[in-house]
Amino acid sequence: MKTPNKLRARNAVATMKEYHPPLSGRTGLRLDFNENTLSCSPRVAAKLLEISGDKLTIYPERQPIEALVAEHLGLPKQQVLLTNGVDEAIHLVCETYLEPGDEVLIVVPTFSMYEIYALSTGAKVITIQAEPEEEFRVPIDKVLAAIGPQTRLIALATPNNPTGGVVSTNDIIRILEAGPQAAILIDEAYFHFHGETVLGEITRYLNLFVARTFSKAYGLAGLRVGILAGSAEQMKMVRKVSSPYNVNEVALLCLPEALADQEFVADYVAQITQGRARLEKELSRLGIRFWQSQANFVLTKIGDKRVEFVQAMRRRGILVRDRNSDPGCAGCVRITIGTEEQMDRLLAALHETLEEIHYTPAVSQVRS
Ligand SMILES: *Cc1c(COP(=O)(O)O)cnc(C)c1O
Repeated sequence: MKTPNKLRARNAVATMKEYHPPLSGRTGLRLDFNENTLSCSPRVAAKLLEISGDKLTIYPERQPIEALVAEHLGLPKQQVLLTNGVDEAIHLVCETYLEPGDEVLIVVPTFSMYEIYALSTGAKVITIQAEPEEEFRVPIDKVLAAIGPQTRLIALATPNNPTGGVVSTNDIIRILEAGPQAAILIDEAYFHFHGETVLGEITRYLNLFVARTFSKAYGLAGLRVGILAGSAEQMKMVRKVSSPYNVNEVALLCLPEALADQEFVADYVAQITQGRARLEKELSRLGIRFWQSQANFVLTKIGDKRVEFVQAMRRRGILVRDRNSDPGCAGCVRITIGTEEQMDRLLAALHETLEEIHYTPAVSQVRS
């Protein structure tokens, strides 16, 4: 006996596109997902080896570690929620605030998960294009003009992915003030590579949410831990929709070690900053257009030969990410920054690849 196929997903879900990041067969030097390209802190690695089986029999207790993270951020614990990555933080904000028909503003190109989770609630996503010729800056006047009574969420990443550009605190404050009826989610996933934050504004702006992650500078993408911070009043609402066991025990046991080893994070960030300057200098020399980045990656414009480029790099053991289908990113490829030795390999492969595909920079692509 088989039941007839009568079950239908909600319309908002049925009409959504499927999102499949190219995660399979990622062998080689992985400069395609903006991960830490080396390792997490050795203190975390040592902790992992210590974890015994009996630790996994109990449901994880998030609160003590959440308090520790809040202390690290200098915030009261009521303002901080640990999440299963920033992905879950975005999902929770959407679940808490969006009704079908509500408006969500995003500035594209940006991180895909804002649109995915917003659409799944039945909300309407309004996209505002940032222009490549204007360095993909957030068109602040267009954003302010688009805010209306139906606007319930505005999500912005700073530094942004895939462009590497940042949003000024001044612009964020203008948005917070223009949309007090909207949740303003500022995604600081790449905070460590840039150093500017609006966490300090949480007490003043009750509609502000700030997200952070352990997936990037800390090198813990596989553990799935993120942070959502906001005013105590609003976080009380968000906590209602979150599972009490959303962060697993292994992650909770490792977090104190990760937080304690700030030297590791600072050292990794210093290596990335150097590597980024080196790649940017080389791209300028080669006449390849790129966008100034404050994160651990650089968006470049390879042009018509981008597919050949990505494949030729892959044959040399280096994975980079084709971003051609992001709005405004025709011909673009995103390259994650690695350590000095990894950048040696990247630059050698880059030179060989450009020669192999007979790459000639278009005059309009050359930066002055
Ligand atoms: C990588 C990334 C994240 C990280 O998400 P996690 O779920 O914490 O791994 C969040 N936001 C942006 C913009 C990113 O690029």
